[in-house]
Amino acid sequence: MNHFIDVILAIPLERMFTYSITKAESEFLQVGMRVSVPFGKTKIQTGLVGAIHTNAPQIYEAKEIHQILDEKSIVTSKQLEFWQWIAKYYMCTVGEVMRAALPNAFILESETLISRNLKKEIKDTDLKDDEYLVFEALHLQSTLKIQEISNILDKKNVLPVIKRLIEKEVILLQEEIYDKYKPKYVRFVKLQVEYTNEVGLHQLLDDLSRAEKQRQVVITLFSISAKTKKPIKVKELVAQSGSSTAIIKALIDKGVLEEYHIQTDRIQYDETDKNEDSKTLNKYQTLALNQIEDSFKTQNVTLLHGITSSGKTEVYVKLIEQVLEKGKQVLYLLPEIALTTQLVTRLQNYFGEQVAVFHSKYSAHERVEVYNHVLGNSAKAKIILGARSSIFLPFRDLGLIIVDEEHEQSFKQFDPAPRYHARDAAVVLAHLHQAKTVLGSATPSLESYNNALEKKYGLVEINRRYNNVQQPEIELVDIADKHKKKRMKGHFSDRMIEEINDALEEGYQVILFQNRRGYSPIVECNTCGHSPQCPNCDVSLTYHQYRKQLRCHYCGHNSAMLQKCMACGTSNLDTKGFGTEQIEAEAKTLFSKANVARMDLDTTRGKYGYEKIITALEQQEIDILVGTQMLTKGLDFRNVKLVGVMNADNLLNFPDFRAHERSFQLMLQVSGRAGRTKKRGKVLIQTYNPYHKILQQVSTNDYLGMFKEQLQERHDFKYPPYFRLIKVILKHRDYNKVETASEWFAKSLRQVFKANVLGPEFPPVSRVRNQYLKHILIKIPQPQSLAKTKEAIMKINSSFEAVGAFKGVRVILNVDNY
Ligand code: ADP
Ligand code: ZN
Repeated sequence: MNHFIDVILAIPLERMFTYSITKAESEFLQVGMRVSVPFGKTKIQTGLVGAIHTNAPQIYEAKEIHQILDEKSIVTSKQLEFWQWIAKYYMCTVGEVMRAALPNAFILESETLISRNLKKEIKDTDLKDDEYLVFEALHLQSTLKIQEISNILDKKNVLPVIKRLIEKEVILLQEEIYDKYKPKYVRFVKLQVEYTNEVGLHQLLDDLSRAEKQRQVVITLFSISAKTKKPIKVKELVAQSGSSTAIIKALIDKGVLEEYHIQTDRIQYDETDKNEDSKTLNKYQTLALNQIEDSFKTQNVTLLHGITSSGKTEVYVKLIEQVLEKGKQVLYLLPEIALTTQLVTRLQNYFGEQVAVFHSKYSAHERVEVYNHVLGNSAKAKIILGARSSIFLPFRDLGLIIVDEEHEQSFKQFDPAPRYHARDAAVVLAHLHQAKTVLGSATPSLESYNNALEKKYGLVEINRRYNNVQQPEIELVDIADKHKKKRMKGHFSDRMIEEINDALEEGYQVILFQNRRGYSPIVECNTCGHSPQCPNCDVSLTYHQYRKQLRCHYCGHNSAMLQKCMACGTSNLDTKGFGTEQIEAEAKTLFSKANVARMDLDTTRGKYGYEKIITALEQQEIDILVGTQMLTKGLDFRNVKLVGVMNADNLLNFPDFRAHERSFQLMLQVSGRAGRTKKRGKVLIQTYNPYHKILQQVSTNDYLGMFKEQLQERHDFKYPPYFRLIKVILKHRDYNKVETASEWFAKSLRQVFKANVLGPEFPPVSRVRNQYLKHILIKIPQPQSLAKTKEAIMKINSSFEAVGAFKGVRVILNVDNY
């Protein structure tokens, strides 16, 4: 009898490939182990065993495998089941899911680039002969393809050698290596409490009359703190009092000064409360916890709708404790892991080593490590904190999935396939493990809230902020009126300026939100009206003043800012619209004493760019922070009292059926950054349309009002949750080819789905990187079978691929398009 295996390869081909194996191999192999196999004429690929059987393939002769790469399965049967679901639901291949699901280090292939790990010292004696040859070759050439290593070692199958070298940390796969960021400790000092009143201070100065230098420090400290309410750094005090760190230390030792670090606030918010136990819930949180437990008796998924700062995280912590007690694993999903240093520290404070963070920016080695910990159900990975791709980890015994900020669109992957939505896939994953799911948000997505109202999900709400701090007061500022009355300075209304000055005077910080980066999105000639466009994309170039450049935000194209109009030659160039750079520049002039900083894609690009800004804000080195959407992501800043939205209108006018829902979520989320402790915060929203329904709903915090109205619109215009959407995107360099191809595709779809096919039409930006784009939207009414719909689309897609004239046109299928 002959033995065979079906192998999944990380390529976008429908089928698994069958290879032949020996009887001994068939006894050793298990589903979920890796093998190296020949593919095509010369290539070697890593494949995953999907099935073991004795049926020879009908159409081709099965090749033999090269070698078995694992001693145990590295992929569980539950994972395979999950991959299959993803592939089927999101219309891609299991191979594409595998590519997304396994750490790169697991899927070696001929084209993989490797390099030496310079951080690790290697003794020649630790290496076997073949390993040494590779190691030596990497001294001569910094990177090598696996194919090249195959030539060096003069054998076809080198994957086992590479695998050993990776395990010994001798080599790295080519990719960005991400080190964990450790914020530097800044030391601050203040007077001990007993010296902060007048009597105490006089007494102290008398006592120090014979220590003039120490006395000088105290006087300086006192006068700085009279001028500014900001914390005072040791460095600053040394400089201003002309003393030395030794003198400061003497004063600390004497008990006159007290030293502290603001950094520790990330973990222990209350200086008095320094234990590592989780917090005692207040009565609203306790009620919510009980309701969640209750709903879990009948529901698998529960939506926790709690306003910002209501203490949802502490409720999750209690749920996590319960699940850990049962020895099960927890997955805590977040929209963007880079933005969550605060949460990581908080959870590590409660759960210590049991927390593992899964980060797409971690090095290959770290990712493999987390993967293996999860696979082994190790005590070091009981709680996985990660962004969307962590749903693919090899969970053994999952008890709970938390999807925090469930409304965030970054849970949906756009490119490449699988184009999955991590929240929705998480619900399926939980189901496979018979685990429960909590979706949490202050502004739930319409879909989730609707599911809750229809009793598909449980629903639990918290309507109070922890500590009962009032929600910030939200004021709408009519800038049309302000312009008319000449009460604008640049893009700042008189109200905005007043409130910023007040906040700064009281020693608070300010956040200003503008959803566009750069200085201004359009440059226009006042003489002829021409405005410079990207040569590769169908979009105007954004002016970046800082670099004196015009940049395309779609393809990265850039050129020097023009002196003259390219069309008419006059130097009458003007800018239209504004971005974060312009707001930053204006803020610097208007509030010359304040430290103004900016947080957007341009300032956070470098290593730790983001973390540096967050730390500076926490340590109150920044008074005014101008930024884009990035500001909204779950940050907990204690000292921010005012949030300004510079222009709400371009959010609202975005051409997308979710624009209104998103604007509502975004504005409430930014508002949530204001006044998170003690003092009530304030939010100013500048707009030309203060009577816009969404803005009214934002200003009264009327989630339910927004929900009902948007739901009605979705119903009337046939959008989710009433209709499901599949978007077909066609792409090609040739305009005419895309035109005819998309006409053909849409016509074929219309024969099946009739009026529920929209398009083809050009998206708002119709050409990106020299590729023309056309979109076709398929709307699927409730009773229509989703599986049959997808089958029909796949069939049309296959016929499409068979048409010679359409060769080279890329077709992208996006299920549940966001
Ligand atoms: P949310 O996630 O709902 O925005 P958080 O869980 O971040 O809210 O809580 C807001 C703030 O209140 C945090 O600083 C948190 O430490 C604090 N907090 C919440 N619940 C408690 C509690 N039970 N005891 C002490 N502090 C709490
Ligand atoms: Zn471009």
